[in-house]
Amino acid sequence: MDPRKLLDTQSRPNMTTERQRESREDPLPRGGSFDLIGSQLGEPFGQKSGFSVHTNCRVCRTALLLPYLDLGDQPLANGLVSADALAVENETRYPLAVALCPECGLSQLTVAVDPKILYTHYRFSSGVSRAWLVHCQELANSVISEKGFSGFVVDIAANDGSQLNQFRSADWKLLGVEPSDVPTLMVGAHPNEVRANIPIIRQFWSQAVADQIRREHGPVDVVIAQNVFGHVADPVEFLKATKSVLAEDGQIVIEVPDVGDMIDNLAFDTIYHEHLSYWNGLALERAAEASGLRVKKLEQFPDIHGGTVRYWLEHRDGATQFERSPLVSDTVYTAFAQRVSHTIDLTSSIISGIEKTKFLAWGASAKGAVMMNAIYNRWPRATFPRAVIDQTPEKQGLLTPGVHIPVIAPPDDLSDVDVIWVLSWNWLPQIRAQAEQRGFSGKYLVTSPSPRLV
Ligand SMILES: [Zn+2]
Repeated sequence: MDPRKLLDTQSRPNMTTERQRESREDPLPRGGSFDLIGSQLGEPFGQKSGFSVHTNCRVCRTALLLPYLDLGDQPLANGLVSADALAVENETRYPLAVALCPECGLSQLTVAVDPKILYTHYRFSSGVSRAWLVHCQELANSVISEKGFSGFVVDIAANDGSQLNQFRSADWKLLGVEPSDVPTLMVGAHPNEVRANIPIIRQFWSQAVADQIRREHGPVDVVIAQNVFGHVADPVEFLKATKSVLAEDGQIVIEVPDVGDMIDNLAFDTIYHEHLSYWNGLALERAAEASGLRVKKLEQFPDIHGGTVRYWLEHRDGATQFERSPLVSDTVYTAFAQRVSHTIDLTSSIISGIEKTKFLAWGASAKGAVMMNAIYNRWPRATFPRAVIDQTPEKQGLLTPGVHIPVIAPPDDLSDVDVIWVLSWNWLPQIRAQAEQRGFSGKYLVTSPSPRLV
């Protein structure tokens, strides 16, 4: 799908022609930089259940959301657990299902887990990849070539400052907004960098923070929000706050994974509780309109987070009422759900033919947890690997969420292993290289865009 088509109200989403989902194990966790402003657009969070039923579209407020994909009740995908913790209490599971707004085409989870639960569990930073830094450099160059060598840029969910750091070659004033402790934690990890000197407001993005920036620093030329929009409870309120700090000729740069990529790559394992919504161009345009903004242009980056779209927004003149357009068809989405169902069954069948003692997985990632739990929910007696290899030391010794497979460091010798399940399938080339260094000569199981042994 070319997201540009979705900016033309005459055309409708056609989710059939997308690209490869690749590049990072998981999108860089934005340091817990999710936005909590605005209402929940649903019922209050249940005291016991820990979640609320999501009832109205996060963009256009339509109440008739159409559920199309159900991955069953699942624990939090990043919630690796210790055996000791499990001995006391099993993990809580929450419904994991997606619904479509027929008005604007926004896919969104049918429930919202209480952020207090969602973002207080054990989190891991996956580090910064070379490809991501190149991408950040490209964005900075784009901004500088358009706006010149001086200006004021704010990065919402600035994380470790990687993006802002790319503006240092020019005379730009830098300001990050980031509630987590990632900025301080990362200083030691990057001794050659000067990111520590970037000022960071340690808060969630909100109207109050926007007001503070405007008051203390004046209008902002460029606001950047990468990989945070899917976490936002109320994108319209988020954008209104952003608009309020923007200079008259200012621009907002939003980057989000594209739902068309998710469908084309069958990347249903990118659906988990942290990701409240899955964006397309029409929904983004609607959210912009409702906030007094308009989409000026967009760019596609097939290799970033498996398919990212960058939207450039600017102030919009005139009324901000929606024009009614034809309903979005759910045909593509129901076909996607059928492919997901088939993939779960087929993967279960493949793994059940593998001898457990000679079966390992690689990548204790969130997407791996979603995939294994989706299979486990339907086929609890399937053969799961005896361990999951992961190079992150903090994950080793823990158990994967839900299915409870031990996470281990890469063994020195993999010559007696028959199959490695590449749970972080977007990292297949890197994992293949590392496995072969350790004497592995068996097959790799990958599930995207279809399950197979390679
Ligand atoms: Zn909607």
